[in-house]
Amino acid sequence: MQMINAFEGASAAQSLPTDLKERIARRSRLLGPAYRLFYREPLHIVRGAGVWLYDVQGRKYLDAYNNVPVVGHCHQEVVAALTNQAAILNTHTRYVHDAVLNYAENLLQHFPQELSHVMFTCTGSEANDLGMRIAKHSTGGTGFVVSSFAYHGATEAVSALSPSLGYNLGPAPAHVRLVPPPDAYRGSSDVGQAFAAGVKAAVDDLAKHGHRVAGLLFDTVFSSDGILTHPIGMIDAAVDVVRAAGGLYMADEVQAGFARTGETFWGFQRHGRIPDIVSMGKPMGNGHPIAGLVMRPDIVAGFAKASRYFNTFGGNPVSSQVAQAVLTVIERDGLQAQVTQVGAYLVQRLKQLATRNECIGDVRGAGLYIGVDMVKDRQSKTPSPQIADAVVNGLRERGVLISACGAGANVLKIRPPLVFENKHVDILLDTLDETLASVAN
Ligand code: PMP
Repeated sequence: MQMINAFEGASAAQSLPTDLKERIARRSRLLGPAYRLFYREPLHIVRGAGVWLYDVQGRKYLDAYNNVPVVGHCHQEVVAALTNQAAILNTHTRYVHDAVLNYAENLLQHFPQELSHVMFTCTGSEANDLGMRIAKHSTGGTGFVVSSFAYHGATEAVSALSPSLGYNLGPAPAHVRLVPPPDAYRGSSDVGQAFAAGVKAAVDDLAKHGHRVAGLLFDTVFSSDGILTHPIGMIDAAVDVVRAAGGLYMADEVQAGFARTGETFWGFQRHGRIPDIVSMGKPMGNGHPIAGLVMRPDIVAGFAKASRYFNTFGGNPVSSQVAQAVLTVIERDGLQAQVTQVGAYLVQRLKQLATRNECIGDVRGAGLYIGVDMVKDRQSKTPSPQIADAVVNGLRERGVLISACGAGANVLKIRPPLVFENKHVDILLDTLDETLASVAN
């Protein structure tokens, strides 16, 4: 499967420095052919601090891409939480321990009170996988509806709900229906109604083929679909449709969660509807693998009678202390408010840049999850993956890291750690300005 911003293997390796070429060869010898590296000239990063990454030669790169190190790379308090607890005890959730309970309590305080149970996993994929099992159990349905370029994870079950992986070029599995995401830039004028109509057709078609709908699952900022965040409320009618058919609204917050969207702590809160199930992961442990699933108690009650749940590493004392430290830093340092302010400044500067660059079709996003839609021309809005690729690699050459997303591989994905400041926006935008000037408009 072709990946956006992927390093294209052996043929591209010829022009690389010998050291890097040897490492890449070793990597493919050992890890096999399914892995991908980023960039035309892949990076060999050896150290990180705050919003900066350092390569093996000591060159520093501004990280405007990585959302996992949400409070900054190698944050001292997170590292201390990890090492302190690792030196005392690390077991699992089959023994009573306060760390997992304290964290669960603090995490749940960030949710509406209806969503009062949390279950821990290690990855977002596992969280969505568990969500699917619980949704099927709770509704008696077997069908799922997802957006047409969604990514929800790597297990057998959730890769079936991840069309951006490509289904090995075959059709979607029989229990899955894909719907166009709510796209205010290229879609119809009433995005919410169009999205709901797609969901209704999908739900009906599933039923016709023997799959009552269990859930509508989407990333609340539609990141792999190209970062689709507006208008507010665009998902509401679709949620009504799926609930009327007996299915659940499953919000994937693996990308959008933990204050990234600025104005709200979770992406779903921007649109106002309370999901039945929420999955989260990535930034939860600032790089340490912890993820989870939050839900209403009634939804998991039947599942718990029929099945038990255990995840060897999910919610262990070390992970819980790490995740607690991350949450503490987000709260204490006022990162949500910072994201709102810095995100607004970033959008303002991008819009200024757009006035001078015809290839910028649209600037959109929420908080510090920003997409810049690169087009051949504004009239046709035809996606330009070539320009996006040239910009991503041109920035990388100049020491700034972003990537691209969307079904057309043409949306610049700007998604830095939340400790990004206005001065970092200035570096990013000045470098982008210079890069755009060197890329054919
Ligand atoms: N959901 C979304 C929206 C994601 O972006 C990802 C990871 N890119 C996942 C789920 C899966 O998370 P993980 O890689 O931790 O399994």
